[in-house]
Amino acid sequence: MTDKYAVIGHPIKHSKSPFIHAEFAKQCQQDIEYTSIEVPLDSLASSLQQLRDVLKLKGINITVPFKEQAWELADNLSDRAQRAGAINTVMFENNGSMFGDNTDGIGLCRDLENHDVNLKDKRVLLIGAGGAARGVIAPLMTYQPAELFIANRTASKAKKLAELFADLGQIQGGGFSEVNSHFDVIINATAASLQGEVPDLPASIFTEQTCCYDMMYANTDTAFIEWAKKHNVSKTVDGLGMLVEQAAEAFYLWRKVRPDTGSVMQKLRDDMQAS
Ligand code: NDP
Repeated sequence: MTDKYAVIGHPIKHSKSPFIHAEFAKQCQQDIEYTSIEVPLDSLASSLQQLRDVLKLKGINITVPFKEQAWELADNLSDRAQRAGAINTVMFENNGSMFGDNTDGIGLCRDLENHDVNLKDKRVLLIGAGGAARGVIAPLMTYQPAELFIANRTASKAKKLAELFADLGQIQGGGFSEVNSHFDVIINATAASLQGEVPDLPASIFTEQTCCYDMMYANTDTAFIEWAKKHNVSKTVDGLGMLVEQAAEAFYLWRKVRPDTGSVMQKLRDDMQAS
């Protein structure tokens, strides 16, 4: 029997996850169906129940704005999800319980590795303090950067995250005005690029050796990547690879097979450039 999966969010119609998982399934010869479902903003708990009991889904991916709320509703959590405070992947177990995982962090780390971005002993700036930023802090710290500075428009949120993860190493947090030096690696985890904006940070964060990563992706350079390029940084990477890598980790959790991600990234990139 075909196992069914879906990605849920609000809105959801532009999600690339159905395409990615269809490619993984073809490649790994897995008999699955994967769709996208828009869930009303005020009914996540009942929607999850329906997806499990009525539609008989085996698992789901969760995107904006439900990741934190779904974390609260999960019956069991992986260690990395426990720490992340948000989940993007659910597996419905045979006894009906809901297991939550967060694959965003590993997705980012794998993509950084794909692009030979080295974090060990480096000064890293993480911009943003929302769900995506929170989910990647612990995985980033496993590379032992010299320092992680979390900068956010709302300073208090960055400070809170820095305190929450203080046991993992040298982590500081603050508002944009508190950032006054340059970094080796800069990761933009804000939604600013969605509005074509860049975080209100000084250009002194960049040097010609800096590598910049934007979790956002588009068929042209994001606003943040355009800004970084203007300052002649050494490397820029967008979040398309992270998207595919986090999906591959979810696919592995569900199907116990690991798809090749490079070919799927290339297809997505070609598709985006053609549109
Ligand atoms: P949240 O809504 O949880 O957080 C949004 C963050 O962006 C906050 O820190 C907010 O600051 C900041 N922000 C929003 N607008 C601006 C702006 N104009 N200038 C400066 N800061 C701004 O979103 P998520 O954390 O879930 O997602 C953040 C981004 O990461 C999105 O673009 C999302 O698409 C992307 N993402 C990509 C993934 C991938 O696989 N490539 C996976 C997950 C996320 P404040 O706290 O002050 O409001």
